[in-house]
Order: sequence, then structure tokens, then C-alpha cells
Amino acid sequence: MGAKILIVEDEEKLARFVELELKHEGYETDKAFDGRAGLDKATENDYDLILLDIMLPGLNGLEVLRRLQKEKSTPVILLTARDAVMDKVAGLDAGAVDYITKPFAIEELLARIRVALKLHLAETAGHQHDQEQTEGVLTWGPLRLDEPRHRVTYGTHEITLTNREFLMLKTLLSNQDIVLSRETLLNAVCGYDYVGETNVIDVYIRFLRGKIDDAFSIKMIHTVRGVGYVIKTWEGDNP
Ligand code: CA
Repeated sequence: MGAKILIVEDEEKLARFVELELKHEGYETDKAFDGRAGLDKATENDYDLILLDIMLPGLNGLEVLRRLQKEKSTPVILLTARDAVMDKVAGLDAGAVDYITKPFAIEELLARIRVALKLHLAETAGHQHDQEQTEGVLTWGPLRLDEPRHRVTYGTHEITLTNREFLMLKTLLSNQDIVLSRETLLNAVCGYDYVGETNVIDVYIRFLRGKIDDAFSIKMIHTVRGVGYVIKTWEGDNP
């Protein structure tokens, strides 16, 4: 299904004409003929874009825009009268992404709609990306180690690790492509004052492999003979 667009326009003929054109382009549409109804629909439903006339009965377009902005980030293109320069400025100030002056050629409106949708999509994707890169989160392909929440997941699977296994995985993940010696790992996992054999590391590696490599049939942790262990950078499929 195409993007869903709400048309808020009191000139019903114009609203219907725009709706027909949008449907023809493959968009889903909805209409409101006054400001109040427009605001209600815009708040209750999730549209990808709103075409909002400024001169509306009930609530005017700018007021609809201001109130909507407090609730949602739906992109809005304003439909303005020819000489309403102040409206355009106020509209953009209030958060509209664009405006188009009436009367407009439908091709121009369609072009602006495409741009606004693309921008909004890129912005939304950007936000999601930001969230994935939150502090304290390490990833390796589908594996995700969330340090603040002390949580490890592989895709949708939750992996339960002991504190030391968690520390070990964290150390390896934050040093991808670097071979870590047993001593380095031991210091990271057990602390510098740990007195004991470094082969305890081999035991933790075995536990980790059982819970991750074996459980998901992947090869994440590599042994480098005579040196130590490494997780190589994820390269799309199982290395
Ligand atoms: Ca109007």
C-alpha cells in the first residue's frame, strides 16, 4: 500500500480532485473539510503526510498545525492563498515541511509530496539508527550486547550469560579484529588481582561458544593458536 495522506481542505471540490489524483498515484487518502475534524483525524490516525489548507472554518490551518505538532511529527504541507506571505512564514515557523500556493498544478503538488515523504522517511530511519547506536550497546551482526541493561540478544533470542561470560563477550566485542591474549581477557574478566591459571579463560570461552556459536550454528569466537581469541568484524554472513 502507498503512503497514507490526509487532505484537510474546506473547498470540497478541490479536496475531491486532489484525492482522485493521489489515489491515481497509488496513495491512500482520507479527507476532512474543516479544521476541527482535520485535527481530530490527524491526532487519532497515523498518516504519512498531511495536506493542510490554511483558511479553514472552525480552526484555521496554522492553529491545527500548532496543536498537531505537540502530539505528532507527521509532516505537513500547507496549502496557502496566493498572497499570504505571512501565513507561509508562520506555517514554516510552526513546523510545516513545505507549502504550495493555490492554485497549483497537480504535478507540482505531487512532486512536493514525494520530496516530503522521502525526507520524512530518511529522518525516521535516522532516528532508528541513533537508537541502535546508543551508548553501551555493542553489536556483531544480529548479536547485540546492551551493557546498561545487562542484556544479550541474538536476533529475537535472549541469551542468558553469567557476569564473567558477559564481561568476556563485552571485551571481545569491543575489540573486534584484535586478538586478545588470555592474560588480557583474564584481567578484563577476573580483575588484575586474580590469582590463578589463565586457562580459566578457555573455560569461559567454551561456555560462550556453547551459548552462542553452537546455539546459533555460527562461528563468532576464533582461536588464534599460541596467542588468544578474537571476534572478527561481522561481514554480512557467517565468517
Ligand atoms: Ca480554504
